[in-house]
Amino acid sequence: MNQKIDCDIIKDLLPLYIDNMTSSNSNQCIEEHLKSCDACKKVYEEMGQTISVEKAPELQNFKKFLYKTKIMYIIIALLAVGIISIGICLIVNFAVEKRLSWSLIAGGGIIFSYVTGYVFLMSKKNKLVKSLLCISLCIIPLLSIIQFTLYNIMGLGFLWLWSIAIPITFLWLSILWVGMLFRSLFKLNIFYSVAIIAFLSIPGNLITNMLVNPNKRLEDFIINGFTNAIAAIVLLAIGIYVQKKAKK
Ligand SMILES: [Zn+2]
Repeated sequence: MNQKIDCDIIKDLLPLYIDNMTSSNSNQCIEEHLKSCDACKKVYEEMGQTISVEKAPELQNFKKFLYKTKIMYIIIALLAVGIISIGICLIVNFAVEKRLSWSLIAGGGIIFSYVTGYVFLMSKKNKLVKSLLCISLCIIPLLSIIQFTLYNIMGLGFLWLWSIAIPITFLWLSILWVGMLFRSLFKLNIFYSVAIIAFLSIPGNLITNMLVNPNKRLEDFIINGFTNAIAAIVLLAIGIYVQKKAKK
């Protein structure tokens, strides 16, 4: 009879005990009873399991929430640092020169890296493709800011944007995009696509040199081309090795 009453009391207390709501004296009684009573022990174990199963998704959601909050804080902090840096550049520049010149380039560069970094960090799939897309879209505005600041505001250099910068940018972006495209079309590993980019760099370098420095000697180009070709062959070999290993 006594044992029966004890068991009922213990079973009533168990939910509180599991939630750590019971006093240390009660805990001692419950623990002693659980040691000697298999029936209550069984009830306790079943309760513990259901509770842990019920709590698991909540806990996971909470962890996800914490992770997201952490990321949010990092983004906000970085954003604040970026805005402050740009602000300082603009103020110092204006104080010294009574106009905005180099700070426009600094600001443009900071915004460019932030946007690209944000896209890279936040995209869950196809990080590289999305980042490259971002670079492709932002690079011409950035180059325009640099050209405008240097030539129109500071009176430095010449108009290189249309004759040199944009053709070279398009050339190298196309080379990078071809590497990426091959990667996604043929499911190649990263080494293959870098090897393709290295191969395409050979004509890429030639065209770049012709645009920037038409008087450059042919030997330099040949040495450059050889280096790229060797790099491409090594990368290709690594790519083949990695793919064979992955298939095993
Ligand atoms: Zn019992």
